[in-house]
Amino acid sequence: MKASCPICNGLLDFRLIEDIKHEKMSYNVYFCKSCKVGTTVPIPSQEELSKLYSANYRSPEGRKFNPFIEFFIYFWRLLRKRRIKKYIKKGSILDVGCGRGLFLDIMRKDGWDVAGVEFDEATASYAKKVYDINVVSGDPEEWGFSSENFDVIIISHVLEHLHNPAQMIKECRRLLKKNGLFVCAIPNLASLQASAGKGAWFHLDIPYHIYHFSRDGLIRLLNINSFKIVGERQFDIEYNPFGWLQTLLNISGIKKNFFYNMLKSPELRKREISNVKGQDILLTIALLPFYLLLSFMLSAIESFALKRGGTIEIFAIKE
Ligand SMILES: [Zn+2]
Repeated sequence: MKASCPICNGLLDFRLIEDIKHEKMSYNVYFCKSCKVGTTVPIPSQEELSKLYSANYRSPEGRKFNPFIEFFIYFWRLLRKRRIKKYIKKGSILDVGCGRGLFLDIMRKDGWDVAGVEFDEATASYAKKVYDINVVSGDPEEWGFSSENFDVIIISHVLEHLHNPAQMIKECRRLLKKNGLFVCAIPNLASLQASAGKGAWFHLDIPYHIYHFSRDGLIRLLNINSFKIVGERQFDIEYNPFGWLQTLLNISGIKKNFFYNMLKSPELRKREISNVKGQDILLTIALLPFYLLLSFMLSAIESFALKRGGTIEIFAIKE
């Protein structure tokens, strides 16, 4: 089966990664050389994805991880707030893919007007109920926001999940005020960890990730939409070292993403524990200390020396 590139509509004929298995399906990643974006083929349908998300992705309260990890996530969202405030001190913000609304709650306490988009309706209603935040679902035409409405729009690790990422960027541009800030984070297909891991790369996350942006691919897409790039982060403490760690474990013959699944919230973990082998546990425990150290070193090298960070965050201004 052939697919066309999401950005230029060209035929995707260069197969970059082959035969990634997930729940009895096999997927390939095709790469568009002109756009520098990879595509999962076959592209899972919305129905298939909805089924996968509801079984594996979040608890009904929108929590993905155990309380220890969730504490870190709170701390990392405070850092995100600080990064945004370097560009815009206060105003209105839209978080596309806001989950249960943790980050928006932090921003509101800081005096911002907040709104969110969450594609999972159960998670969206949790955010509305618990945090009393305006969270909408569905396609952009159903959101009901007026044009030039927001000072900041953030879309963090969401674009790669969407069936039409190019349209989403256009829509974000429409909703941003002139000189508003657009913040976009993605896994970087051009990173060292992606090249080293190939089909075992943790952040490839097939079939959840439909598109696989490289740094250059994302910047090209933003430039086409008249965004001016004003900042770029190649190192992210939340995503990059863990991307290496889980990739190293995956290529060591341990069940794919076993360690990651153990960090999930108890209700999501249950499914994984039922068919675990002793050998996976022992190998993980034996390799973890060494791989942890190695992961931080490799993340620093790929991000700062090679400028090929495992995930990247781009800051752009609507011109
Ligand atoms: Zn293309």
